Amino acid sequence: MCPNCKKDTFSAWDKVKSNKPRKCSECGIIVKPAFFRSALSLSIAIFISTICSGLTIYIFMKLIGPISFTYIWIIALPLLIGGILPIILWIKVNDWFVPWVLEKA
Ligand SMILES: [Zn+2]
Repeated sequence: MCPNCKKDTFSAWDKVKSNKPRKCSECGIIVKPAFFRSALSLSIAIFISTICSGLTIYIFMKLIGPISFTYIWIIALPLLIGGILPIILWIKVNDWFVPWVLEKA
């Protein structure tokens, strides 16, 4: 959401994908995500994602028991679930936590 005109010109994903300044298509102000909070939020996300994927793999291995090396690729599944689900939630949290700041022209 644009901090100036409150129109939905920026998405939560916009805050995540780049730290570059961008222009609101409705009111024309130039904003960028607050740098420090953005960096902090990203480090927390990587941390949580790593723990979650590790934990998911651990639970998964416990459930299926020993597997042969041929099926080792199956570990990619819990790795993806455990790693990506927290990121999807995090994008929402990040949108709330990281404010847009005005870029001085
Ligand atoms: Zn705007």
